[in-house]
Amino acid sequence: MAEFIPQPSCADAHEPNSLSISQATQRITDLILPITESETRSLRDALDFVLHTDIISPINVPPHNNSAMDGYAIHGSDITSDKFSLRQVGIAYAGQPFDGAIQQGECIRIMTGAMMPADCDTVIMQEHVEVNDTLITIHGLHQHGQNVRMAGEDLKFDEAVLSEGHKITPADLGLIASLGIAELTVKRRIRVAFFSTGDELRSIGEELQAGEIYDSNRYTLHGMLSHLNVEIIDMGVVPDQKQALREALQQASEQADVVLTTGGVSVGDADYVKEMLTELGKVDFWKIAMKPGRPLAFGTINNTLFFGLPGNPVSVMVTFYQFALPALLQLSGEAAPVKQLIQVNCVSPIRKRAGRFEFQRGILFQDNHGVTQVKTTGEQGSGILRSMSIANCFILLEEQCDGIEPNTIVTVQPFSGLI
Ligand code: AMP
Ligand code: MG
Repeated sequence: MAEFIPQPSCADAHEPNSLSISQATQRITDLILPITESETRSLRDALDFVLHTDIISPINVPPHNNSAMDGYAIHGSDITSDKFSLRQVGIAYAGQPFDGAIQQGECIRIMTGAMMPADCDTVIMQEHVEVNDTLITIHGLHQHGQNVRMAGEDLKFDEAVLSEGHKITPADLGLIASLGIAELTVKRRIRVAFFSTGDELRSIGEELQAGEIYDSNRYTLHGMLSHLNVEIIDMGVVPDQKQALREALQQASEQADVVLTTGGVSVGDADYVKEMLTELGKVDFWKIAMKPGRPLAFGTINNTLFFGLPGNPVSVMVTFYQFALPALLQLSGEAAPVKQLIQVNCVSPIRKRAGRFEFQRGILFQDNHGVTQVKTTGEQGSGILRSMSIANCFILLEEQCDGIEPNTIVTVQPFSGLI
């Protein structure tokens, strides 16, 4: 008699051989070696790239002590009472320092950003000053040393400013420009190839015949990958035929660092992805105790990482976001990002059976008092892609949770700009 081998089924809440999300994540993390190849890019073109080396400041920023205000640069020791007068002997603009001497009892007019004269250590805002030709009278209480920005206050010479593994943001472009650095050594962009599998799939622009549907997974994957700094190789739709799958997988793995497929990883009669992968590479085939999203295939074909995502459109987005995305970041050499989770009140009741971790689609909104709350998007079927379109977060429900009443605090994972 044939041995009975339990297989993953998306309908079964209690699957004894399922991996937890953290176990699956750990197995992926353990297998990835971040890329080591680097390239030199000009500053602007380095946006969204990952630093290959630390950036060490070659200068002090600001390079010199300078005024934080439009006003008058004085000797702090001249502040003796809440009303005193000084003689103005010159003027300093940003980029045009005053190079004369300033004695006690004297001052200069100074603009914001202008270099502080060596003699002075304090700036009085012009709003506190009465001017009578070259005689200025200062009112109010002032402190020695006020309104001066010190050299190196932002960045110090020889200080590590940004570390290897940091992804360059718009703020970093400005920061690095302030150091006078024109080129960066960054890690090369990783290449990600993907295709959809399924005899029923047509691409947009084609006529649908009976039983056919439009391929949506390639478009959501294209969108999510486009928001990452990766090279995208879209390989189209591959039919449920072993030879076609074999060729597509081989070709994809030769061109890319990561191959993503959707569909064909379940236990239907035309689900050949698992078989072809076992033939071509080393593959783990997992049932994950989550909804939506199981099963998932993960492994390698030669040196290429492989993710066989499920076919259902919502499952594709959830498994991509929870597993493939962190893996892509790790492979890119990016330092692990902090997972952004928030606790908020959920106004909707949620039906759920204990047994699997669920990623329900939610909408964060502000109530009439400006307090952030969350509600579900409604029907949560894994084929209902509209739930992802209108959602702006996942509501995370632990395995043991068996549903929630309205007005319960839940954990929410807001979508990053990716979805
Ligand atoms: P499978 O895992 O191949 O059995 O697919 C599960 C479900 O997802 C089926 O209803 C498929 O028709 C659907 N599906 C698979 N791939 C896609 C795709 N690329 N776009 C839209 N639906 C898909
Ligand atoms: Mg299929």
